[in-house]
Amino acid sequence: MPRLTLSLVTRLSPLLALALAVASQEGGAPGYRDTPLLPGGEWHVHDSQRPTPSGVQPHGCGEAPSDAVVLFDGKSLSAWRSDGGPANWKVQDGALIAGGGNLTTRGSFGDCQLHLEWAVPATPTGEGQARGNSGVFLMGLYEVQVLDSYANATYADGQAAALYGQYPPLANASRPPGEWQSYDIVFRAPRFEGERLLEPARVTVLHNGVVVHHARELLGATRHRELAQYAPHADALPLSLQDHGDPVRFRNIWIRPLQLP
Ligand code: MG
Repeated sequence: MPRLTLSLVTRLSPLLALALAVASQEGGAPGYRDTPLLPGGEWHVHDSQRPTPSGVQPHGCGEAPSDAVVLFDGKSLSAWRSDGGPANWKVQDGALIAGGGNLTTRGSFGDCQLHLEWAVPATPTGEGQARGNSGVFLMGLYEVQVLDSYANATYADGQAAALYGQYPPLANASRPPGEWQSYDIVFRAPRFEGERLLEPARVTVLHNGVVVHHARELLGATRHRELAQYAPHADALPLSLQDHGDPVRFRNIWIRPLQLP
């Protein structure tokens, strides 16, 4: 039944609406099987047999959704390691502080949704790339830049939220130094067949809730002063946070592994 008609009936008689809805079900599942096939030929419009998504309890402020892997809860470094062994970044006042080399997850991730919060030092030192520099390396290879870009000139594809060396963000949504900022990232890993790249990685980034990349196709693994290139790799790899010599803080880090179409 078309939505408008059903809503009209609902207003007139909830019991009648319920009876009509039940009558439209096939095999107990609500929906239809006599409607046109959607492109791809697998599902009909309003298909009663199409699986419904699993339930997730969404997150409140500062919390992870129910199905997320919590990578940092303000206390434990158990999800991480450093290049030389156990994780060696400091934890202070519920935040991780960059220093001592890159920090890498023990687990591996491919397609994912990632949330994290970061803050550059409240008292800026240095300029350009030497001011609050860190980075989120998806799969350890593809950097979403972290930098103090509130009032700090640098090259466009190296500022905060840039896909480093490839694409500047669509907007500069930076907060002043010292304030907490957020990244919400949706990442689709590149697809390889043997040595051949089938599909490049795609990434969507929100910086402090502002869309700064939408399904952007990455050119390859991040490079400095060189063109990015792909080299075949596994479907899932550890994520890393960059130590670029600045005590950038991180908190509330969670990831939802996904299988994106
Ligand atoms: Mg960086």
